[in-house]
Amino acid sequence: MIVYLATNNPHKVEELAPLLPGVELRLPRDAGVAFDPAEDGEDFLANSLIKARALHALVRAPVLADDSGLCVDALSGEPGIRSARYGQVDGGPKLEASDRNRLLLEVMRGERDRSCRFVCCLTLVLSGNRHFSAQETCEGVLLEAPRGSGGFGYDPVVFLPELGRSVAELTMEEKSRVSHRGRAARRMAALLADLVAEP
Ligand code: IMP
Repeated sequence: MIVYLATNNPHKVEELAPLLPGVELRLPRDAGVAFDPAEDGEDFLANSLIKARALHALVRAPVLADDSGLCVDALSGEPGIRSARYGQVDGGPKLEASDRNRLLLEVMRGERDRSCRFVCCLTLVLSGNRHFSAQETCEGVLLEAPRGSGGFGYDPVVFLPELGRSVAELTMEEKSRVSHRGRAARRMAALLADLVAEP
């Protein structure tokens, strides 16, 4: 099955591809389309549907979208759906991941409640009125300083107590086993297998 991935983020592609066996993933650029929809939904589910529908309108083929981010309890769920844009000044460029992490740790300096979670919503759009979503989480604790060099985004600042390491200290396989994206992708893989088996 050919599925277009509604993203320009190479890290998401790298993490999702091994988790969707039997699926030939294609990117917007493979269809020669420029893809940068306004992500103005109220939550991860709304934004993943916005992205999936926007690309589906362009490629007219099955599309999978990933909307994800880090929610920090002491910040009422921020950066949340604004994770990629955290710290961005109106109209200015997005910050580098290391600068976003520095800003988040600065904002959280001295805060004792450091519970947080990664969230990933995957939405598959098959046609105008057929879509399926899976949203999963990965619970963690915000570190005081970054640790590790793997992964991407907020991985170096999120510690997983059960594993005793930050997400950036995990191998890709270890991260996939416990991550928000890994969990959601396994649900989506099961759904895709089910759809392919449909008469
Ligand atoms: P989106 O492209 O709007 O879904 O933004 C996702 C943003 O959330 C990314 O740019 C990262 O900053 C953050 N994020 C999502 N998933 C992960 C992850 O697995 N590790 C670290 N950061 C992530």
